[in-house]
Amino acid sequence: MWKIILVWLLLGIAVPVVAQKQLVITLDDLPLTRIYDPDLMRDMTDRLVQCLAENQVPAIGFVNENKLYEKSILLPERVSLLQKWLSAGLELGNHTFSHVDYNNMTTAAFIADIQKGEIISRPLAEAVNRPYRFFRHPYLHRGNTPEKVVALTTYLKNNGYIEAPVTIDNGEWIFAHAYHRRMQERDSVAMRKIATDYIRYMEAKTLYFEEMARKMFGRAIPQILLLHANALNADHMDALLQMFRRLTYTFVPFEVALKDAAYLSEDTFSGRQGISWLHRWAKTANQPALYFEGEPMVPRHILDWAGISEE
Ligand SMILES: [Zn+2]
Repeated sequence: MWKIILVWLLLGIAVPVVAQKQLVITLDDLPLTRIYDPDLMRDMTDRLVQCLAENQVPAIGFVNENKLYEKSILLPERVSLLQKWLSAGLELGNHTFSHVDYNNMTTAAFIADIQKGEIISRPLAEAVNRPYRFFRHPYLHRGNTPEKVVALTTYLKNNGYIEAPVTIDNGEWIFAHAYHRRMQERDSVAMRKIATDYIRYMEAKTLYFEEMARKMFGRAIPQILLLHANALNADHMDALLQMFRRLTYTFVPFEVALKDAAYLSEDTFSGRQGISWLHRWAKTANQPALYFEGEPMVPRHILDWAGISEE
């Protein structure tokens, strides 16, 4: 490739611009999943946000504010973890107060949990002149009936929230669960194996959703990746980012990705599943089952280590 470019340069022919692929990195369930030891929480948050900041990744973290409390008492050290995100130049968003499942509740009850979920984070962000605007649905559940979807999207729109889509939906949470369980057993051999398999799996998943975008739009679209704030990513974010760089991705802010026309695609999907927006658009367009085939699965040994029977 470089030889060809060199020839072009020597001949004075304009080098075609290779469009870089764009990726938004989003992390849910802040401040951290499954870790409650204050020192460990601080250490993991520091490593996670430092890695993102050093790599100039404009990531966003979605908060469950119930995790800032213990027995109804607000813990300042947990709040300080959110401040670390803001200090590193990252953004915070709302992921409901207590990670409720919209499938199993009324719109009114769900909205009450959204409202409760911004009480600490919004003033924290605004105190440092940072926007607070995105909402991420727990389990990616947007509504199990068309009426519930419309009621929620209307509420979010009328209250200044932007819905945070996901295109690269994945089983990272299963790898993270497996990693955490082996970490508790101090099984460093298994932890290394999980980490290696994790990066390989995420690459395969990314390529699958790239192909899905090409099938739908005939081109690459800015992709949006769902991750969680957890030990796995605190330890291996750097390797994950390197993998995306190798796939020629650049990391962009949410608002940049959402400007792409793909995100105006019609989505009439409603149901109990939490699925990629690419799949919602494809289902809206009545694509047959064959269209969705080839999605990489979480390997059996990872499910076993996570204590999960099925993905
Ligand atoms: Zn979540």
